[in-house]
Amino acid sequence: MASDRRDQAVRAAVEQGLLSEEQPVAALLDVAGIRASAACLRAAFAAVTDAPVLHAFAVKAAPLVPVLALLDAEGIGAEVASPGELALARAAGVRPDRMVLDSPAKTPAELREALDLGIAVNADNPQELARIDALVGTADPAPPLGLRVNPQVGGGSITALSTATPTSKFGVALRDEGARDWVVRAYLDRPWLTRLHTHSGSQGIPLTLLAHGIRAVYELAEEINTAAGRQQIDTLDIGGGLPVNFASDEQTPTFAEYAGLLKEEVPGLFDGRYGLVTEFGRSLLAKHGLILARVEYSKSAGSRPIAVTHAGVQVATRTVYDPASWPLRIAAYDAEGRPKAGPDVVQDVAGPACFAGDLLAESRSLPLLRPGDVIAALDTGAYYFSSHYGYNSLPRPGVHGFVTDEGRADGTADDAEGAAVRFMTVRAPQRLEEIVAESGGDYRTRLLP
Ligand SMILES: *Cc1c(COP(=O)(O)O)cnc(C)c1O
Repeated sequence: MASDRRDQAVRAAVEQGLLSEEQPVAALLDVAGIRASAACLRAAFAAVTDAPVLHAFAVKAAPLVPVLALLDAEGIGAEVASPGELALARAAGVRPDRMVLDSPAKTPAELREALDLGIAVNADNPQELARIDALVGTADPAPPLGLRVNPQVGGGSITALSTATPTSKFGVALRDEGARDWVVRAYLDRPWLTRLHTHSGSQGIPLTLLAHGIRAVYELAEEINTAAGRQQIDTLDIGGGLPVNFASDEQTPTFAEYAGLLKEEVPGLFDGRYGLVTEFGRSLLAKHGLILARVEYSKSAGSRPIAVTHAGVQVATRTVYDPASWPLRIAAYDAEGRPKAGPDVVQDVAGPACFAGDLLAESRSLPLLRPGDVIAALDTGAYYFSSHYGYNSLPRPGVHGFVTDEGRADGTADDAEGAAVRFMTVRAPQRLEEIVAESGGDYRTRLLP
């Protein structure tokens, strides 16, 4: 999100009361930005292949029904990995043939439901494939089915998100002894197995490593098709994982750069013989969202200024627990939502949770924050406010999409500053009654003698 657009949205959010004493945290999503990213993704792959490409958004990156519906309207389907994510995608109206189900722990009931609904499934392991064997005869006609392999090409800078390490829990570990032969045989024994899937990891994986993983899977598909004497594998699911630049407003690397690199590294992937599935998450949404939070207090400890805000571990869980891997840019605004002026002061930006590590940013140079000011945690449109962490029973913040005049269909503008931004609530802020109900409120007497 460009900084002028961001400033305009923050100002309007404060003026229109999205952020208030009662609602000290709010998340914003730039609708035009999301649409532009979806268009970039489609264009990037359309430029390198004529074969059909299903772009399936990794729902875990933003499990919000209106966001999934928006992406669906922009030609982006859904990659789901749990019954909850499947329910969200269905609620958003995503058609079964525009979905794919991955996950390392699908139950028999989940598999049956997916096959009955006609949703493509990627089996994670031999045991799951055996379960699918038993179901395939009963599904009529069976949706596209595939197998996930781990090319074991190595990890990136964030171990927790590296799924192609030698011992990753995902897929069939391709370089393990006997594994490759087993996979080839598994396909030859199952003429209905027509897809091959890999996803080498998320944020922190170098593009070349992603490409190596995809090349390994392409070569395996070629080997299987040669052994089968026909184009048995007709679709390669190349996963997601395009990293996001959290250091500036620049959107880099781009989908076009990635598609171009893949075409260089794995030209055969794009010669029209293979349909493609992609599963991008973070790269579609991250730059288009931000979290706003009010500063409640400003204090100092050991001569370090500390701004105590309402956004912490509940919305920025990874940043708080692993700040070195997940640094976030923070922008400072005054109580009216105007960019805050003043000399930079090194300070901590803390959250509301009751543990010392609950910091959005440590030793950050910002204009000195004061009570009532507003901070914005930038690039948080993916995985942040939508993957809430319930620590301290802190509520899930409201999420509001916004459009500005330029993004408005009718081109009308209001006179008042800030009114030129229109917000649409995507998710209402969680209410205290809901927290109580989710926390056993209906069972108050259950444990009493
Ligand atoms: C998480 C995940 C993705 C999305 O990864 P991003 O880094 O958000 O693009 C895609 N596919 C699978 C199987 C995943 O687990």
